[in-house]
Amino acid sequence: MSLHTSTIRELSEKLKRREISSVELTESVFARISATEERLRSYVTLCRESALGEAQQADERLKNGSDAPPLLGIPIALKDIFLAQGVRTTCASKILGNFVPPYDGTAVKRLKTSGAVIVGKTNMDEFAMGSSTENSAFAVTRNPWNLERVPGGSSGGSAAAVAADQCIAALGTDTGGSIRQPAACCGIVGLKPTYGRVSRFGVIAFASSLDQVGPMTKDVTDCALMLETIAGHDPADSTSVPAPVPAYASHLTGEVKGLRVGIPKEYFIPGIQPEVEQAVKEGIHRLEKAGVELVEVSLPHTEYAVAVYYIIATAEASSNLARYDGMKYGYRAPGKNLTETYLKSRQEGFGPEVKRRIMLGTYALSAGYYDAYYLKAQKARTLIKRDFEEAFKKCDVIITPTAPTTAFKIGEKTEDPLQMYLSDIFTISVNLAGLPGLSLPCGFDSAGLPVGMQIIGKYFDETTMLRAAFAYEQATEWHKKKPKIS
Ligand code: GLN
Repeated sequence: MSLHTSTIRELSEKLKRREISSVELTESVFARISATEERLRSYVTLCRESALGEAQQADERLKNGSDAPPLLGIPIALKDIFLAQGVRTTCASKILGNFVPPYDGTAVKRLKTSGAVIVGKTNMDEFAMGSSTENSAFAVTRNPWNLERVPGGSSGGSAAAVAADQCIAALGTDTGGSIRQPAACCGIVGLKPTYGRVSRFGVIAFASSLDQVGPMTKDVTDCALMLETIAGHDPADSTSVPAPVPAYASHLTGEVKGLRVGIPKEYFIPGIQPEVEQAVKEGIHRLEKAGVELVEVSLPHTEYAVAVYYIIATAEASSNLARYDGMKYGYRAPGKNLTETYLKSRQEGFGPEVKRRIMLGTYALSAGYYDAYYLKAQKARTLIKRDFEEAFKKCDVIITPTAPTTAFKIGEKTEDPLQMYLSDIFTISVNLAGLPGLSLPCGFDSAGLPVGMQIIGKYFDETTMLRAAFAYEQATEWHKKKPKIS
């Protein structure tokens, strides 16, 4: 068996027993990339040389024995939204096309400290705005299960890279579904932690009250191992919470008897692809057989989530993206005077979706409209949050589909932003409420495309969410299926 097809857990044991070296493993990953990247385009930047150097260091550390964190020597990919010192970081935008950060973001630093090998930076929707990775300024990433389909987004490069074994695991970010939806589209596990669980320091901001960093992996155990590595308080991010980080992987027993699983009726609605609904319902049934108790719950304000999100997220984006003016860093289009330089740099540097969002957000925040849009949206956000608080009085986790359809065709939704926005109808509420959510594979549709099931947890209770996911994974084989990249 090739090394690149294995999981973190399997490889980490082999590395510790010195059956393999991290250099061999890293070579195997890069050989896989050479064989597939032309078709997939998962990466914006590859770091072959530095990766082999890091692998060599990991091998030294392994040789010296005692301390061997689970990620030591493991090749990991980073969405191109994470600042990594000395490595071009573009956010898939022309405006950051030449940006080389002088420091590491906290999640990246924690990966490096634990000995992970950084493979490269993965493709994404520009500034994480999108659900298909088609909004990248550089390339369209293809779904490894079917090259005519999108990998989902915005962390589509990370999802495709994990599914195609072009890395062992990856980091993504999730503002409205950007870890979970591409994970579902590519048949992998993706976890968005509770808001505040993982530091956002050194992550290019999209919508700061919604953005979270999380792992994208081949199975649930790997997801737990990645999360314990990156989570925890960081004085550099005032929204990161000083709560202890559990050893998540040690809680994965496969035992779920008596766990109360909430099923919200608002998430099984007309419009959802019938095969998706069926696969998720069968998934729920599996868990019932494993001993969970099903409870019907209601999240009555779900219908407002997409509208609320597209006011709050765009408002925050319009403010966050004001910093790209062609002056401090990034792309500059010189004009006759300062104003013209600002205007031209932004005009040429940002793609159409980013401009659409800046305009929407600026409008929602403008005097005269602020109360009608932004303030109203914030009030509705509170109602959505309260729905979950009520529901969680009756259950320990909530299960829903991750996305209403499997991966759609490249080009199918690019002309219709509203259709594209609906891809996140089942994930967005979780960000608005700040809760943790996870997607894991639960079947395939008749076209052979993966279906994702979403498990939502209580605040800071990633442990129970992961336990439920692990129990399901133990009872099924979906996570072991690999795409044949034609
Ligand atoms: N697809 C959603 C959007 O376009 C969510 C993106 C994300 O989570 N970064 O905003």
